[in-house]
Amino acid sequence: MNLVPYRGRIAPSPTGYLHLGHARTFWIAQQRARQNHGKLILRNEDLDSARCKNEFVSAMYEDLRWFGLNWNEGPDRAGPFGPYSQSERRAVYLGALHQLREAGLIYSCTCSRQDVLRSLQAPHQGEEEPVYPGTCRAKLELGTSNSAPALTRPAFNWRFRVPDGETVSFVDAHLGPQQFVAGKDFGDFIVWRHDNVPAYQLAVVVDDSQMQITEVVRGADLLVSTARQLLLYRALRLNPPSFYHCDLMTDENGVRLAKRHDALSLRALRSQGADPIQLRVNWTP
Ligand code: GLU
Repeated sequence: MNLVPYRGRIAPSPTGYLHLGHARTFWIAQQRARQNHGKLILRNEDLDSARCKNEFVSAMYEDLRWFGLNWNEGPDRAGPFGPYSQSERRAVYLGALHQLREAGLIYSCTCSRQDVLRSLQAPHQGEEEPVYPGTCRAKLELGTSNSAPALTRPAFNWRFRVPDGETVSFVDAHLGPQQFVAGKDFGDFIVWRHDNVPAYQLAVVVDDSQMQITEVVRGADLLVSTARQLLLYRALRLNPPSFYHCDLMTDENGVRLAKRHDALSLRALRSQGADPIQLRVNWTP
């Protein structure tokens, strides 16, 4: 018998309309929470203010409810672990950033690369960054990182230094044993961006821990990010949750569904009169 009550979460980013692929992952998350007599938390991952829009936030609630999703805690209802929108949780992330810096595990980085641009969003399929070549790492090695800029001074990114060559292993509840090698499968990654915004990798770890999530259910394209996040859990001395990575839903050409697949957005399906029960008829976790 499980002594710790199950807490799962769904964590949409309101950067577009949700599609059937999101619905499937969230449905599995809901099923897992129900099977384990647990709670489901909705977290609004709206860190990327340039891409997140209010209209997508309201659509998100509406579409999720239409599909049959219900949550116990979230931005639209009270709960002990709020606020449940990431844009309102900066202070918590900043605390974690300080902790990483005190432990000498991050360095300021002036490189401007695609991964910096993308760091506010989870790297989904086809968006994995090339391994960072370590250009700015010397600052940490020379011990000058502490005399480097104040933590959140604009114009500097903060990058987490990964332990090169270390194998990060975990057992996924759906996909079984997984292994990724730091420095090879993924490199030093951004935890805080030069424009003073926490990156996805840091925010998600801090939130899943603070919201006492016991199992993270999300798409299989985030397996490598789980390895990154496990390093952050260790660095912050936090207990990681378990992980269940779902198979990705693809279109007829085998391409993962993304927000650009307008025809399969929950909005469009609903306006065409689709029945959610029919849509999920073959879905079993
Ligand atoms: N907000 C992220 C996304 O929509 C969540 C990723 C995760 O579940 O960790 O991709």
